[in-house]
Amino acid sequence: MRALVVVPPTPGVGLTEVPEPTQGPGEVKVRVIECGVCGTDRDVVAGKYGQPPAGSTQLILGHENFGRVESVGEGVVDWSPGDLVVATVRRGCNECRFCWTNRSDFCTTGRFKERGIGGLDGYLAEVYVEVPEYLVRVPTRLRKVAVLLEPLSVVEKAVEQGEAILDRFEPTPGYERETARAALVAGTGAVGMLAAFLLRSLGYAVTAVDRHDETTLAATLLPKIGARHVNVSAGLEPLDPDRFDLIVEATGAPALDFELIRRLSRNGVGVLTGIPAADAPAVPVAAGQIWREFVLKNQAVVGSVNANRRHFQSGLRHLGRFRRDWKEALESLVTSRQPLDDFHDPLMGKETGTIKTVLTLAR
Ligand code: BGC
Repeated sequence: MRALVVVPPTPGVGLTEVPEPTQGPGEVKVRVIECGVCGTDRDVVAGKYGQPPAGSTQLILGHENFGRVESVGEGVVDWSPGDLVVATVRRGCNECRFCWTNRSDFCTTGRFKERGIGGLDGYLAEVYVEVPEYLVRVPTRLRKVAVLLEPLSVVEKAVEQGEAILDRFEPTPGYERETARAALVAGTGAVGMLAAFLLRSLGYAVTAVDRHDETTLAATLLPKIGARHVNVSAGLEPLDPDRFDLIVEATGAPALDFELIRRLSRNGVGVLTGIPAADAPAVPVAAGQIWREFVLKNQAVVGSVNANRRHFQSGLRHLGRFRRDWKEALESLVTSRQPLDDFHDPLMGKETGTIKTVLTLAR
C-alpha cells in the first residue's frame, strides 16, 4: 500500500510502498479517507520531533485521521464494514494508573507512544489496523468535518483543564453569572479557530488574536461565529490588560505567552497548547513582577497536551453543535483538500492564509 514515510531524525518525507498491515482477531481494518496536516507533522518532517517504531528506521506519518471500516476481525461485535471512524493518537505505557484507565494523555512515565508521531505508525497510509478501544464512531452527517475531530479533541482537553481551575468558584445562589466569561484565543490556525468555536459555543465572549489584518479567512470567519478578531502584529496594546478569564494559547511562541498572561483577569487561567521548539531562544522576563501578579490575583497557567477518548467524544458532540449553528464557517476551516501525492507543500512548503490542509486518500 502507499504510505507517507519519514526516517526520523533525518529531515524529509516520501511517498513509498509499504506492506499492508494484517488484521487479526479482535481488530478492525480501516481504509483512510483523509488526514489533516499540522505543525507537529511539519516538525516530524523537519527532523525536530518524532521516533520510528521500535526495530524500524521509518515511521508512517499522520495523526489527524478519518476513515471507513473495511473489515472486522473475529470477536469484534460493535463495528461493521462501512462505519465511519476516527482513531485516537496516544497509546498508553501500560505502567501507570492513567494509562491503565484510558487517560494516557496524563501518562506519568512518558513511555507512551503516539501514532504517526512517536513509536507507532500513523494514518497517512491507505489502511491501518486498530483495536476498538481506540476508535470513535462518526455519524454520517459529520463526515465533511470529521477530520477536524483530532485537533478539536486537543482543544476539548485544553478548555476542560482551564475550566477545571476556573470552576473552583462554585456558583453562588442568587449571584448567577451576569456577564459572559471573557476568553482570549491566541493563534488562528486550526487549533485556535476550533478553540474560538468551542468557547463561543460554551457562551464565552471570545477575542482571537493573530498577526494578520482583516482580509484573512480566519478574520472573516470569526465575526460569523460571534467572535472578535484583533491583529496584534504591532503588539498586544489593543487588548485590555487584566481582562480575560480564560486564555487558550495556540501559537507556541514563548515570548508572546509572557505577554498574554498579563491579560488575565483576577482569578484567570491561561492554558498553553502550542509546543515551542526546544531550542527556542531564551526570553528575558520580569519574573518578579509576573509571579507577584499571579499570586496577588490568584492566577494560573497550565500546559495541556493530547486528549483521550472522552475528549474525542465531547468533540463529536460539539462538532454537531457547530454544524447546527455555523455550518458554512465550520466547513470553511478545511481550507484545502488535495491528493496524497501533493504532500510536499503542506508538509514542507510555506503555507499562508490556510487553516487546515487535508490530504485525501480515498472517497
Ligand atoms: C497531537 C497530539 C500529541 C501532540 C504531541 C499534537 O499535534 O495532536 O495528539 O500528543 O502533538 O506529540
